[in-house]
Amino acid sequence: TATGGRYDLIVIGGGPGGYVAAIRAAQLGLKVACVEKRSTLGGTCLNIGCIPSKALLDSSELYHLAHHRFQRHGIKFANVELDLGAMMGRKDEVVTQLTRGIEGLFKKNKVAWLHGFGRLASPTTVAVKAADGVETFHEAGHILLATGSEPTELPFLKFDGHTVVSSTEALAFDRVPDHLVIVGGGYIGLELGSVWKRLGSKVTVLEFLPRIVPFADHEIADHLLRSLKKLGLEFHLETKVTGALISNGANANGSGVPPAAVVLAESKSGEKLEFPCDKVLVSVGRRPYLDGLGLAEIGVEYDPKSGKVKTDSHFRTNIPTISALGDLIDGPMLAHKAEEEGVAFAELLAGKPGHINYDTIPAVIYTWPEMASVGINEQQARERGYDLAIGKFPFTANGRAKAMDETEGLVKIIADAKTDRVLGVHIIGPRASDMIAEAVAVMEFGGTAEDIARTCHAHPTLSEAFKEAALAVDRRAIHI
Ligand code: FAD
Repeated sequence: TATGGRYDLIVIGGGPGGYVAAIRAAQLGLKVACVEKRSTLGGTCLNIGCIPSKALLDSSELYHLAHHRFQRHGIKFANVELDLGAMMGRKDEVVTQLTRGIEGLFKKNKVAWLHGFGRLASPTTVAVKAADGVETFHEAGHILLATGSEPTELPFLKFDGHTVVSSTEALAFDRVPDHLVIVGGGYIGLELGSVWKRLGSKVTVLEFLPRIVPFADHEIADHLLRSLKKLGLEFHLETKVTGALISNGANANGSGVPPAAVVLAESKSGEKLEFPCDKVLVSVGRRPYLDGLGLAEIGVEYDPKSGKVKTDSHFRTNIPTISALGDLIDGPMLAHKAEEEGVAFAELLAGKPGHINYDTIPAVIYTWPEMASVGINEQQARERGYDLAIGKFPFTANGRAKAMDETEGLVKIIADAKTDRVLGVHIIGPRASDMIAEAVAVMEFGGTAEDIARTCHAHPTLSEAFKEAALAVDRRAIHI
């Protein structure tokens, strides 16, 4: 053991929550260190989450377009070939550039990176165990827990890193699986399913619930389901996975190469189903990563069932010198939510009025078309008893979408009929991920559908569909 430094703030975890909090606190004049056990900063998001998945989604979409859509634009190829190694290499390069970028930002802002595994040794001490096993003890005025989350395992379908895998391995397959079975119809499964389907796999999604992405607006989620089916993904809803026979190709069945796995499931009516495949992606959710953090020893309260660390509205745990944020606490497990919390936490710690509005956190699924939403959906608005005015506008009637040959989807605005205030916006369509930002800004300002309707939008752009949907709230859309 050795004695380390003394800091105003020590952050454990260098993901979007932790690194943003560290940088903002340093900007505000605090002496800050961040403990990260990985060899790169950026957490799940940059290393094995948001960024590599989007890199593969973009690459695989281009491959898909080259195969199926470029001809419509009058672009012909003699041959379209996949170089999976090069595609993965580009993804890795993007990740490396961005994680190095965070390292640069740490240097610029004088945030010390303590390499190693962090553990609470006291309410104001963090023990950091380096790769060589040596532990150093660092003192802090305040400690921020930002250790993120890990994939949830199914007890009857445990990860083996090869055949039964989590998103981490599914972002780095070295060949295109013949048949990928995905357990769980949430956004991670649907995004990775899209990637491998576009690259040539047969993809089957097994979902226990009657709907995919059950928290989304039903109309928009139904549209997404249709669109993914059109891409060729196969869905079995209300289907319970019960286990799998894993042979990894060892028990030849006399019909050529045996499947590496047979996923066993049961339909709602009790019918037994079998899905022979070569990879199984289990994407049924994520849970807070608390291993070895020393919460129980120090007495930091957390929910033993969900693993979520208990915090108040200022991110404080029951121990006054210890706070927590990001995937570790309540709320959507999203990088931008963690980042907003990081900024708000640092500002509060520095005695400023840090703030986060949980009602205006957008959610995006980066399939193609993309699905993006903010605020409440139609089901929730009806449950809450609002008198609703809903405006919709399809991309088939949008000039730019036509020019792009991307006319799938619609914009749906849900407004309070009494006040016209926007309660939620739900988009499925091209670049919905970028379009939703305008809806977030309007809602953040407490805006109305009329505010959007009276705002000039450049022509021809996809965002005109947003304006037209706002006009449609008052039944005066022009182009439909
Ligand atoms: P993390 O990013 O998980 O970071 C925690 C860090 O802490 C890790 O680097 C870990 O190594 C480190 N750590 C943990 N314990 C210790 C310890 N004891 N000592 C030292 N270091 C430790 N979100 C989006 O908003 N958009 C997306 O498109 C998106 N796509 C995703 C795709 C996939 C495949 C996955 C898995 C996730 C995706 N997410 C996405 C979710 C997003 O990655 C997380 O919400 C986000 O990373 C949470 O940030 P965090 O800072 O709380 O934790």
